[in-house]
Amino acid sequence: MKATSRQTVFVANRGEIALRIIRACRRLGLRVVCGYSEADRGAPYLALADDSICLGPAAANKSYLNIAAVIQAARLLDADLIHPGYGFLSENAAFAEAVQAAGMTLIGPKAEVMRRMGDKVEAKAAMIAAGVPCVPGPDRVLPHDPEDIARIAEDIGYPVILKAAGGGGGRGMRIVHEECELADASMLTRQEAQRFFGNPDVYMEKFLGRPRHVEIQIIADSHGQALWLGDRDCSMQRRHQKLIEEAPAPGIDRALIAEIGARCARSCVDIGYVGAGTFEFLYEDGQFYFIEMNTRIQVEHPVTEMVTGLDIVALQIDVARGEKLTLSQDDLRTEGHAVECRINAEDPESFAPSPGRVNALHLAGGPGIRVDTHMEAGAEVPASYDSMIAKVIAYGADRSEALARARAALEEMRIEGVKTNIPLHRELLAEDGFAAGGVSIHHLEHWLKTREGQENA
Ligand code: ADP
Repeated sequence: MKATSRQTVFVANRGEIALRIIRACRRLGLRVVCGYSEADRGAPYLALADDSICLGPAAANKSYLNIAAVIQAARLLDADLIHPGYGFLSENAAFAEAVQAAGMTLIGPKAEVMRRMGDKVEAKAAMIAAGVPCVPGPDRVLPHDPEDIARIAEDIGYPVILKAAGGGGGRGMRIVHEECELADASMLTRQEAQRFFGNPDVYMEKFLGRPRHVEIQIIADSHGQALWLGDRDCSMQRRHQKLIEEAPAPGIDRALIAEIGARCARSCVDIGYVGAGTFEFLYEDGQFYFIEMNTRIQVEHPVTEMVTGLDIVALQIDVARGEKLTLSQDDLRTEGHAVECRINAEDPESFAPSPGRVNALHLAGGPGIRVDTHMEAGAEVPASYDSMIAKVIAYGADRSEALARARAALEEMRIEGVKTNIPLHRELLAEDGFAAGGVSIHHLEHWLKTREGQENA
């Protein structure tokens, strides 16, 4: 790595997170360059980078997911570090290895740590060893013998859930309510796991009926220091896709969260984790149950930034460059409340994607409002990628002020040319259950079903 000259960060991503990374690099005084696909050629945020280069065609597997193309592009633009953002190659251990082999530094954990935490059975075993509470069920791959499988389910108690060890994106999971379903379900889940993730291993755990999704943000440096930066509640989900997130998680005992947070931070030191990361938990009846670790920056990191005053992307870059965290856990204070609404280019009723050109847009503003978006009038929303085009983050001294500001912001915001889920967010922010706080991960889908029923009545 160049020690004295200005270092270069290559952004191996697109859209709002590419812009977010560009901004962090600017603040740190680093040179920043981007790879883009043909579908993103001319995207306005590229003009803010020092340089950019085409990775390949629109199809992600030919551009943003093409490891050889990304490495070559980063080399051509003289990169020292590569920021993978979220999605795409961000949790791909083979990519992490390729970056290292090419003499560059990935802004993220080492390949072997990424691989270990990417295998849910191994991750669970590591967390149990570190004293992080997990969902009841063995930290082992499911055996093949039907009697052994039945015994494990019996021990856990029905209902149980079968999950792919290599799973992600809410796929490769199956709930089993009674023994007679078990054999078929194990076989099908194994087949799916092989098909989707190239790994037939599955494991079993207790199925929790109405949990909340609560997660802990951590940051760890390469000098043995790891901090937890507070918690988030991301229970407002549809098809396992988060729609609204907030920090902190409402109505949970702060002492319990502090204990879980400290264990997460300690486990980072145990496993040699360096970078930003998130420990995801299900929370039910006053208990936390670890489900997985995300070894990357997450979409919802801004709510944590708003309540801590930190720049998590800048911290990620600092620790990847070998710097020591100058903060200590005792310095960290969270204050107030923040809520994030993910704005997607999609039909607010049918959820069908709505790509196209944004003709006009008016973003919200005012005290406590932050909008992270790569959109401007004339920008294209390509059909080839995720439909999220903006994040509206509202901060307040407390939850009710954050929600009031979010409502006002969503009222004000206008995007024309593509359909968006802004009308859905307006309804959700006004909805009694969500406004009360502490809903389960099923709340949004139940609410949508009820609304549909009323419309059809
Ligand atoms: P993925 O990596 O595919 O997102 P996760 O392990 O994070 O998989 O689980 C995704 C979602 O599946 C969770 O947010 C939750 O809604 C549901 N889920 C996973 N494990 C359980 C469980 N043991 N009980 C109930 N729901 C679960």
